[in-house]
This record gives sequence, C-alpha cells and structure tokens, in this order.
Amino acid sequence: MVKGNLLYEGKAKSVYETDDPGLLLVYFKDDATAANGAKHGVIPGKGVVNNKLSAFFFKQLKDRGIKSHFVETVGEREMLVKRLDMIKLEIVVRNIVAGSLVGRLGLPEGTPLNVPVIEYDYKSDELGDPMLNRWHIMAIDVATIDEVNRIEHVALSVNTILRDILRAKNVDLIDFKLEFGRDVSGDGEVLLADEISPDNCRFWDVVTHEKLDKDRFRNDMGGVEEAYQEMLRRLTL
Ligand code: 5GP
Repeated sequence: MVKGNLLYEGKAKSVYETDDPGLLLVYFKDDATAANGAKHGVIPGKGVVNNKLSAFFFKQLKDRGIKSHFVETVGEREMLVKRLDMIKLEIVVRNIVAGSLVGRLGLPEGTPLNVPVIEYDYKSDELGDPMLNRWHIMAIDVATIDEVNRIEHVALSVNTILRDILRAKNVDLIDFKLEFGRDVSGDGEVLLADEISPDNCRFWDVVTHEKLDKDRFRNDMGGVEEAYQEMLRRLTL
C-alpha cells in the first residue's frame, strides 16, 4: 500500500489517497480544537491513543456484526479504511445528560435519560453544524428514510455494545458522536465511519465520575494527556 495525495486535512485527522482507489489512509494527529475551532491545543500522544482505541472498538463491533470502514492498522497513528461517500451528518447518542444537553433541557449534568436519545447535526461549516431532525434530513436529501432508519438501528446497537464493553472496565458511556458513509464500491450499504475515541465520546469513571475524555481539554481541567492514556490502558491492557 502506497501513501498518495492528501485528500482532506481536518482538525484532528488527515486523510490520504492510496494506490488502491477503494482505500484511504487516516492519520491521527495530536492537535485538538474546541468551541467550534476557537480553542486550539496539542494533546501529546492523543493521535496514537485515538488510532489504537478506534481500531479496538471497530474490531469489537465487527465481531458483533457491525460493519465499519476500518480495514487494518498500518502504523502507530495510521489506519487503512474503505473510501466511502460520507453522509453529511453527525449522529449523537446520549445515555446521560452532559455537554450541550445541560443547557438545552435545563437538567443537571449526570441526569440519567430514560431511553437513549439520538440527535443529528448537519455537517456544514458555514452554517455552524445546526441540529436537524429526521424530516429535515429527508426534505433536503441529506439521506433517505431507509438510510436514516439504518443509521438509527446501527447507532443504538453500537451504544449497547460499547456500554457493555466499557462497563466491564469501570467506565460509563455518557454520550458519543458517530458518522456514516455509503460503500459506493459495493451496493451503497451504509457503514460506520470516522473514529471512536475520547475525542468524540464522553467517558466517566463508574465510581468517581472522573472525566476520561476531551472534556478535560474543552473545560481546562488538566490531566488531559493522562485521561487519554488511562482509557487506552483500561481498554487494551
Ligand atoms: P455535545 O452536543 O454535548 O457537545 O456533544 C455530544 C457528544 O458528541 C460528545 O461525546 C462529543 O464528544 C460528541 N461531539 C459532538 N460534536 C462533535 C464534533 O464536532 N466533533 C467531535 N469529535 N465530537 C463531537
């Protein structure tokens, strides 16, 4: 596999073409942003942790019947993935009130939700990623109703699987963000994509409720690097 042209440079990841048109190389960076890009920083070792944890979670999900873009790990910071036609949505699944939901519902952080809540954000930099519902998504052709149903089914299954895996490591899964894409080299099947890491999930210690995720960076709590390393240690050692 030969690393080709840079296809996309994101805040936390870069994506390269390869000599296989169906495969891309994702490089995980240590750079971190928050507050819609207003806050910048570097979390040493984050890229290595996110690459390893994402590979770990994608493999665990595959073993339980959830297909993703993940093909294989090819370096400390790099994974090979299937090239997908990305759906312009961020799918947030929540089990416990935290982050933006605190202000939106007027409930204290840590309030359990009776059922998992699914939210959609439209990936649009110029609009500032506004929240959408299923009707907006269908009305402006972001995805079809069949794709939305599929995404919700997979997102809820991912939630159940990850909750169980994390609980066994004394970690509560508070909420997380997923992205999906269409496998255009096949029959257009919707596959899980992006990453699963402390950058896009909220992880709390079951007993102490210590935050083990990017909220430590977002909220200047200190111990950011240590939290990422602790998650890697608990999940993979
Ligand atoms: P909230 O809406 O409370 O800020 O975020 C909910 C969950 O989705 C959190 O786990 C957060 O990490 C994740 N999330 C929401 N938006 C983004 C985003 O733009 N990038 C990343 N990496 N994660 C996000």
